[in-house]
Amino acid sequence: MSLEITVLGSNSAIPAYGRHPSAQILHCKNKLHLIDCGEGTQMRFHDFKIKKNRIDVIFISHLHGDHYFGLIGLLTTYNLLKREKPLHLFAASELMDIIQIQLKSSNIILCYELLFSPIDADKSKMIFENEDITVETLLLNHRIPCVGFLFKEKIHERNLISEKIKEYQIPFTELPSIKNGNDFVDMKGNVIKNSELTIDPPAPHSYAYCSDTLYHEAILPQIKNVDLLYHEATFANESINRANTTFHSTAEQAATIAKKAAVKKLLLGHFSAKYENLELLLNEAKTIFPDSEIAVEGKTYLV
Ligand SMILES: [Zn+2]
Repeated sequence: MSLEITVLGSNSAIPAYGRHPSAQILHCKNKLHLIDCGEGTQMRFHDFKIKKNRIDVIFISHLHGDHYFGLIGLLTTYNLLKREKPLHLFAASELMDIIQIQLKSSNIILCYELLFSPIDADKSKMIFENEDITVETLLLNHRIPCVGFLFKEKIHERNLISEKIKEYQIPFTELPSIKNGNDFVDMKGNVIKNSELTIDPPAPHSYAYCSDTLYHEAILPQIKNVDLLYHEATFANESINRANTTFHSTAEQAATIAKKAAVKKLLLGHFSAKYENLELLLNEAKTIFPDSEIAVEGKTYLV
């Protein structure tokens, strides 16, 4: 199993130069998870052949419009398409009021169940879990309550060594227990150590999504050693004052967070509409953290 991220929108508040507001898809097996839903996200699904019916969970970081203005359109599209399965939405509690007033004024009653879980932006916790991943909130420092999300694969089962399984004639029914790390005891009471029957599974992967935030070291312990960090880099160094007053980060600050957290790779995003060319931001980040990359819309990144 592996996690993949498709970037659908990489810009900040104003769409510019072919770049769109924030939205990403996290792929895990056949399941898709939507992270933020800026204006036009549905059209990005179409552009990048994202199967929207595979999305069952949506995470919204905060209620600045560039992170959720595409949501009501998506919810009503699902209604028009007669979605049957529930949709789970995680966001600040006010979002449910906003959705309800929009649906009420259009006289729409959704034909599917919208399961809403309010996010507490004052306390980090695990908000979602399925058989493959867990999702924790990261408390960010922005003008309004805002969280990031830490996606972690669950620890995999151990890999069986098939020759050894044959050699010891281990019954099929015993395999799940061995995959879970247990020794095998045969009919005569002989113990065969698990280490002789299995090898280590691949290490679980992790992805941290951090948008939007002032430079904020408090997240470092939680994102330590993640495989991929997406961090907002709204501005270059020349606009550090503007970054501070708007509670955003520069590319260099994003790279400093990546370096201090010893992440494997940094993806920069949430760019200001003032930059047509993003080389300046990339170069500033690379001076601090060489394994930095610009988030490109439509591109899928292996975590
Ligand atoms: Zn914001």
